[in-house]
Amino acid sequence: MLDDPGFNAFAAPGGYVFVTKGLVDRVDEAELAGILAHEITHVTAKHHLKALGNRARAGLATQLLASQLRNNVGGAISAQMLALGRDLYARGLDQSDEFDADRTGVALAARAGFDPYGLPAVLQQLRTATPDNQLFTLTLATHPPAQQRLEQLELAMGQRLDALSGKPSVSVAQRLRQR
Ligand SMILES: [Zn+2]
Repeated sequence: MLDDPGFNAFAAPGGYVFVTKGLVDRVDEAELAGILAHEITHVTAKHHLKALGNRARAGLATQLLASQLRNNVGGAISAQMLALGRDLYARGLDQSDEFDADRTGVALAARAGFDPYGLPAVLQQLRTATPDNQLFTLTLATHPPAQQRLEQLELAMGQRLDALSGKPSVSVAQRLRQR
């Protein structure tokens, strides 16, 4: 846990997951489980490594041309790898990987015995966060809009999770109103 007032969670490719104190202070147990499951999915599905690979390939092709001109291959490439790493955390992952982390995360949290509606509840909170609220700046900047993530989850969750838990079928929106 990072001693930071912002509302953020990150995963590093090696399996480390970081959450800020500002986040932990604002969520309940099911919501935290949903967030951790989302981040764990980024690690187990190797989303960061894939993104680094894609951008490295695209970048290095450009770099190869540049280095032929400058004849300074080693230095240029290592500097570019550093820049790629920074870029990844500033810009975030592919949208499809974020939607995947939401879907798989909800299933993971549910299988671990937590309320599957924890993550949707966090997204609902994010949806109503104003863009100028500095607490949420990084989270909002590095992820697809919360409304889109909720719609994707609604499509994926439908009535299947409720069937799993033996509860009557309700939509994500209905369920969140009940909380
Ligand atoms: Zn994510």
